[in-house]
Amino acid sequence: MSSTLIPTLPDQFEEFAEARRNGFLSVKAFKDRGEKVVGTFCTFTPKELIYAAGAHPVSLCSVSEETIPDAEKHLPRNLCPLIKASYGFALTDKCPYMYFADMIVGETTCDGKKKMYELLGEIKDTHVMQLPQTQEKEHAVTLWQDEMHRLIGKLEDKFEVTITREKLNQAIKSCNKDRRLLKAFHQLGKLKPSVISGMDLFNVLNGADYTFDREAMRQNVQDMIDSLTAKYQAGETEFSANAPRILITGCPIGGVASKVIHAIEDAGAVVVALENCQGYKELHQEVQEDIDPIEAITRKYLDIPCSVMTPNKGREQLLQEMVEEYQVDGVIDIVLQACHTYNIESYNIRKIITGEKSIPCTEPRYNSLTFTIKAGYTRLP
Ligand code: SF4
Ligand code: SF4
Repeated sequence: MSSTLIPTLPDQFEEFAEARRNGFLSVKAFKDRGEKVVGTFCTFTPKELIYAAGAHPVSLCSVSEETIPDAEKHLPRNLCPLIKASYGFALTDKCPYMYFADMIVGETTCDGKKKMYELLGEIKDTHVMQLPQTQEKEHAVTLWQDEMHRLIGKLEDKFEVTITREKLNQAIKSCNKDRRLLKAFHQLGKLKPSVISGMDLFNVLNGADYTFDREAMRQNVQDMIDSLTAKYQAGETEFSANAPRILITGCPIGGVASKVIHAIEDAGAVVVALENCQGYKELHQEVQEDIDPIEAITRKYLDIPCSVMTPNKGREQLLQEMVEEYQVDGVIDIVLQACHTYNIESYNIRKIITGEKSIPCTEPRYNSLTFTIKAGYTRLP
């Protein structure tokens, strides 16, 4: 093969950055072939069940504020912009992924989302899983496992398929494979000096979700891991070892990623870790492969360290581990407007990070998907 045909790292980064836009064609091709598409909004959605039903999960979490004014005709203005934007795209039919989805799976996470799903259900076939609000009690496992069975029933009826144990095990193995690879990609952030910008890190992790040819996605990600590791070993990284190393945590950042990460990196720092939902939160823990598949899926998805859980000690523990392992100099905690759960957790997160770890912690708050940092919250190191 001619060397000109070998994609360069910038080409690969670009491909992942464009994956969300280009993925529409893959989803249309699925539909043209009579395949099924299930829209999802949240990291709690057990995508293994969707794959085991022979369908394709696709994230509908909106990253654009374009439809917020339409959503505000039905929803309160002072609601989380993520919820408004997502509902707005369903209302206006402007998102091809939403348009192509045969059904949607949601969960009773925060108040805004679960009430929005009631309205969404009037527009699209929406199955809402009742998510327990705690991870600490065995009855939470029982309830969540019942919800797995309820979703299996819904998928089987909707798509006229049977979800067998074998299909579940295959889906678990395949999703774990993806997790291991993307986790290894995220862990490149541990290298010092850094070998990848936070923006490229985000784009690859986010774009992987919209790369529907999973084998191609895996090959590309592995190639990038190899290239970046070789670059590091050859001492060819363009980042300074003195650049302050930033970890981003808090609300999902899809809608503000570009502005937040660019602001941080334009100021001379480098984002080395993303603890949020488009980052490490989902990747750090696999589904166990040596126990009953439904129990394994139940336990994995109950343990997501999201602020809708009370208490949510897993996030505190994960953050402390990541601060150490990624040699983090500063933490930025993203709180979208009206996200009470992450907003309240900020108090303890700040205490843990600034107290025990003695590193700066800032809390930018975003009033819409447009980036606005309140004065006083921009203490980038
Ligand atoms: S932050 Fe929590 S509720 Fe929001 S997408 Fe992630 S897991 Fe779901
Ligand atoms: S960011 Fe907060 S308010 Fe918005 S959907 Fe997620 S948990 Fe709910």
